[in-house]
Amino acid sequence: MSIQVKNVSKSFGSFQALKDISVDIESGELIALLGPSGSGKTTLLRILAGLEGLDEGAIYFDGENITNVSPKERKVGFVFQHYALFRHMTVFENVAYGLKVRPRKTRPSKQEIAKKVNELLELVKLQNFQDRYPSQLSGGQRQRVALARALAVEPKVLLLDEPFGALDAKVRKELRRWLRQLHNEFHVTSIFVTHDQEEALDVADRIIVMNNGKIEQIGTPDEVYENPKSPFVYDFL
Ligand code: ADP
Repeated sequence: MSIQVKNVSKSFGSFQALKDISVDIESGELIALLGPSGSGKTTLLRILAGLEGLDEGAIYFDGENITNVSPKERKVGFVFQHYALFRHMTVFENVAYGLKVRPRKTRPSKQEIAKKVNELLELVKLQNFQDRYPSQLSGGQRQRVALARALAVEPKVLLLDEPFGALDAKVRKELRRWLRQLHNEFHVTSIFVTHDQEEALDVADRIIVMNNGKIEQIGTPDEVYENPKSPFVYDFL
């Protein structure tokens, strides 16, 4: 699904977090959203997910204005820090959650849910962990469950806010490969927020660099690496 962000502005009180942002993302792209802390990355992602309203502008998915469409109806899967795994639920229950809470009309049967969850857990190689609780998993395993959970609802758009932030370098690298593989396999359009320039360069089709509520640069990893517009990008190199 293509995503068009058109002249979006958002303020919190007198602070303008997003200043007239416009960007077009093609269907199937894997985008890294890079930028210093406070530059508006999470706000943009939350607006795309429908978790945050906007003051001005509009969001289009496949050409359709979805600015006022609820998060559930946006066909968006997300891996957000504030939507961590449910601690009191097993791995199986976590992944099944999005399917179980669907409106009755579109809710799959118990058997269908079990089949789907098993397939997803197999994909992220956690089929033997389905009865465990999040506290019994490593950080990397937890994020794989979070990816499976986000994909269970068959999203067209996958939004990830620093999905691998708290993990060590080796696990981050491994999870990048998972992200790329699942992104391809599920034919989604994905945007992930990262502070890590290397991560953005390594896995993204294009990088959006944000600074101070604005988009400073959009380009392929090569373009951004060769010709960074933002001084902070140099800091990361
Ligand atoms: P980033 O993800 O790039 O670190 P954010 O989008 O989280 O940036 O935040 C951008 C700015 O907006 C920050 O200065 C933050 O303090 C402010 N902000 C974000 N959400 C809120 C909110 N709910 N209320 C007040 N200020 C907010």
